[in-house]
Formats: sequence, C-alpha cells, structure tokens
Amino acid sequence: MVEKLYISYNNVHKLCKAGAEKFLKDVGKPDVIIAIGGGGFIPARIIRTFLRSSGEKNIPIQAIGLSLYEDLGTGNGDKIGKEVIRTQWLDFGALSQHFDSLIGKNILIVDEVDDTRTTLHYAVSELYKDVQEIAEKLGRTNEKTKFSIFVLHNKLKEKRAEIDEHKMGGGEYISGKDVPDQWIAYPWESDDIDDHTKHAVEQGNI
Ligand code: 5GP
Repeated sequence: MVEKLYISYNNVHKLCKAGAEKFLKDVGKPDVIIAIGGGGFIPARIIRTFLRSSGEKNIPIQAIGLSLYEDLGTGNGDKIGKEVIRTQWLDFGALSQHFDSLIGKNILIVDEVDDTRTTLHYAVSELYKDVQEIAEKLGRTNEKTKFSIFVLHNKLKEKRAEIDEHKMGGGEYISGKDVPDQWIAYPWESDDIDDHTKHAVEQGNI
C-alpha cells in the first residue's frame, strides 16, 4: 500500500508563504480570499498573513462550504460520479461592508488539496455565475473579475473536471506542491499531533 503523505504545520505555513509570494508577483494583492471549508480555512488564514503589508487593512476572508458525495448513477453500469453540494455560500451582507460587489475584483480561492478537481471546478463556475449575473443586471460586464486558486497540494492524476480559463479572467492557479496520487494527512485532522509531526519530519515535509 502507498504510504500516506504527512504534512506538518510548519510545512503548511511555508507552502502558504511561497504561494503568497508567487501570487503577489503574478497577480497582485487580492481584494478578498474565499476559503473552501473546512480544509481551506487554515491555509486561507495563513496565506493572508503574507498577502498584506504591515499597516494595511486585513483582506476579508469569506468561507464557503462544499461537500462531495458519490452519485451512484442508475445502476445500469453508469460511471460512478461525484456531485458537489453547497453547505454554505458567500455572505453578501458582510461583503458589502468592504465593497459594493465582487465585479472587477481580484479574488483568491483557497483549498487544501486539488484531488479530482471537482470541487474547484464547481467553486469557480458558481462564483463566476454569481458575479456575471449581477454584472449583467448592472451593465458592468466589461469589468474583468479575476478568480485565482491556491491549494497546498495538487495531486498529479487524471482530473474529472477542468477549470475554464475564461472564467478565471486572467487569474492564476497556484499549487504549493505537486504530489503523486496518494492520501495526504493534514495536521489539523490528526488526533496525535506529535506522532503526526514525527512522520512528517521523517518524510521531509517540514
Ligand atoms: P476534489 O476531488 O474535489 O478535488 O477534492 C475534494 C475534497 O476531498 C478536498 O477538498 C479534500 O477535502 C478531500 N480530499 C481529497 N484528497 C484528499 C487527501 O489526500 N487528503 C485529505 N485530507 N483530503 C482529501
């Protein structure tokens, strides 16, 4: 059996730092960070540390909740698919304290891992749709909204979905590290953090 990949908190921190530096260089400071829960929460908070300069206002973090469930098909030999359900979405009330809308904004979506890409594909498509709807209503479709993605890890495997570059509006996809297709154990899931960190250190993920 393939061994799990153990990731330490320090390693998460360093991947976020490197990701933020690349993001700032290539895309520029985001207006808002959207964290896909629960795995995206801790990376989103850490990456924010490296995205703002001292003295500047904090970049708002919004949480969205997406869950994958197995769609068992019709039982006639269909391929088993995966469906995404929304468990939480943007809080437009809270966002309105920062800006009038997301139209034309530089948005960074954060999750911990890009596995089959189903979740990220759904997030970008739905966020794009939401912004597009409002932009059409307000006659502001000429303003380009940038959706970028940061994940700690991207698994090198065949993906079930591809993210439409057009919808990303010039945003960038950044992975902290590309890894083989194996299970990744994150520190926040561990019930014995000392043992977890020991494994991570042994694997050089520090
Ligand atoms: P997707 O297949 O849509 O790219 O990934 C869906 C979700 O599955 C991820 O956001 C993550 O929560 C979970 N997941 C997929 N692979 C792994 C893994 O190797 N480790 C952990 N901890 N979660 C994973």
